[in-house]
Amino acid sequence: MGIRVRFAPSPTGYLHIGGARTALYNYLFARHNNGKFILRIEDTDEVRSTKESVDAILKGMKFLGLDYDEGPFINKKGEIEEKGNFGPYFQTQRIFLYKDFVDKLLKEGKAYKCYCTVEELAKKRELSNLEKRPPKYDNHCRHLTHDQILNYEKEGRKPVIRFFNDGLGETKFNDIIKGEISFNNSLLDDFVIVKSSGIPIYNFAVVLDDALMEISHVIRGDDHVSNTPRQIMLYKAMGLKIPEFAHIPMILGGDGARLSKRHGATSVLAYKDMGYLSEALVNYLSLLGWSTSDSQQIFKFNELIEKFDLYRCNSSAAIFDNKKLDWMNGEYIRSKTKDEFFELAVIELEKSGLITREKAIEKKAELEKILSLEHEKVKHLTEIPELYDFMLLDEINYNEKDAEKVFKKDPVNTKKILVEINEEMKKIGNFSAENIEKLFREYSEKNNIKTSLIFHPVRVATSGRAKGPSLFHYMEILGKEKVMSRINKTLSKYFN
Ligand code: GLU
Ligand code: ZN
Repeated sequence: MGIRVRFAPSPTGYLHIGGARTALYNYLFARHNNGKFILRIEDTDEVRSTKESVDAILKGMKFLGLDYDEGPFINKKGEIEEKGNFGPYFQTQRIFLYKDFVDKLLKEGKAYKCYCTVEELAKKRELSNLEKRPPKYDNHCRHLTHDQILNYEKEGRKPVIRFFNDGLGETKFNDIIKGEISFNNSLLDDFVIVKSSGIPIYNFAVVLDDALMEISHVIRGDDHVSNTPRQIMLYKAMGLKIPEFAHIPMILGGDGARLSKRHGATSVLAYKDMGYLSEALVNYLSLLGWSTSDSQQIFKFNELIEKFDLYRCNSSAAIFDNKKLDWMNGEYIRSKTKDEFFELAVIELEKSGLITREKAIEKKAELEKILSLEHEKVKHLTEIPELYDFMLLDEINYNEKDAEKVFKKDPVNTKKILVEINEEMKKIGNFSAENIEKLFREYSEKNNIKTSLIFHPVRVATSGRAKGPSLFHYMEILGKEKVMSRINKTLSKYFN
């Protein structure tokens, strides 16, 4: 049998970092082994499942580039469509498939109807709490008589269906990541497999879905380890083939607590909005629980597929390190070609209203020169507008703190320097970085003024801020006219 794996999120929220990593590991394992990767939406929680979450999950998968062979997707018309021969891929649409299995379990006495009401069960739980017993179902309905059943039905009680767990022996499995795990069957009670509404409980639905979809490996978060024995019992009871299991350890925040909203954004699409590249996020997520023997950090997508090894995953928790992710994102942005960076930058510049796409394309050569000034420094795409606005705006915005610091320290001399250097610049024929620098250095020597006393004021006067790209390079791109008029404006604004 070929390898078939699935990512099976519940649509009760967006696609978060933990889910994305689970999806990625499934994806990489499938692609590495020429297997199939399936997306299944586990929407049997009627109360918490939403259409928005389904959309967010599908969009998140798309953003990460985790294409799947089977499952729901958003088509060109914006509607949800399904592909694959093992559908439906929404759990709620599969309920009709479970009926025969439930009937068979009931007939074979491996499951039974329980008519206990919620109130009755609550009372029993209270009692076991008082007596300090674990709150296990007391098997009250295991052997109801025909008459008892008739009476309950007459009362209008709607039964749940429970699995008959004889409590003997243990359930063992050999987890690919965690090693051998065994559970004493007596610790579990006759757990519910179908709710009174007829909706199956997760542990039952997941077994049938995985079996019917011929899933070979179940790769999921280790919060499901405790569900696995129940699931294995059900596989056995129904005579279904048990898949391999790989439980990936959880992700912690820097403080050692389970990663949650408290640590900042956890939604994959929020990372997109914050200016992360999907390649960087994927690369980062791949290392949250897995590494190569030589601790390689940066991987091309194909290289990840080639090198990913489920058997080398850590069994202990991974820590989400924002600093490392930022570094990696910077690495990926730096590795973009001029053209690629241009495309990414135009999106951000257009969003912030600094330039339209038409204008950007019309002035591509000039814009590319501007972009090259800071390409190396960008860590998040969202920083792009503020890094370049002074190059694109007619009126610069002064950072008042910088202006205060640089202009007010020695206003008399600073004014003199700005006036004189502006006059000097008139002489430059070819306004190149090299020529500007030469002129500045000559001026500094001739007048015996430290270069920093020239460079800083000119920088703030021409860009509005104390920090930025290489002074002479951006001056060259701005051009003599703009540079001189900015200095004049600064003089009248701050030195009158
Ligand atoms: N729907 C489950 C969840 O989102 C995953 C179930 C599984 O992978 O078995 O936690
Ligand atoms: Zn009962």
